[in-house]
Amino acid sequence: MEGVLVLNHNYQPLNVTNVRRAIGLMCLGKAHVLETDSRVFRSERMEIKMPTVLRLNHYVRRPTPVLRISRKAVFARDNYTCQYCGARNVPLTIDHVIPRERGGKTEWTNVVCCCTKCNNRKGNLTPEQAGMKLRRKPTRPKFIPYISYTKFLSAARNPAWRPYLEPYADLPPLQ
Ligand SMILES: [Zn+2]
Repeated sequence: MEGVLVLNHNYQPLNVTNVRRAIGLMCLGKAHVLETDSRVFRSERMEIKMPTVLRLNHYVRRPTPVLRISRKAVFARDNYTCQYCGARNVPLTIDHVIPRERGGKTEWTNVVCCCTKCNNRKGNLTPEQAGMKLRRKPTRPKFIPYISYTKFLSAARNPAWRPYLEPYADLPPLQ
């Protein structure tokens, strides 16, 4: 994973930035390095181990935005996996567990990632009526949403960053 994970002073993940900006933060005395990897960053002025995780020296107050539901975010929450049959790498769509025609709402607890095959099979039925079973109950992601949800989940696939992100989200298992 390219980039540098930036944590607030209280270790909340704030951003993923590029190496130049990360080094800028360090040179200004705004952040210090928590993790490096085996690569080396060289410039005219310095030669240092490549930073991969930074922590700000002071707490930065940021407003907490609301995590909005979107197709992309639901796919990411469900790890791009059909929540009925478990298929991956197939055409995916959004399924309303309780169909809209039956009063089901577009909210985190009623939408799941679904393959087009299962979606067609289920049609306008509830899972019980269609004889289908959800692999897990859909929930609103637990998440500190400074980083976009999809960016956050993709950052969490980096084993070096995962320990810093894990406390803030229900992460799908590493594959
Ligand atoms: Zn399916």
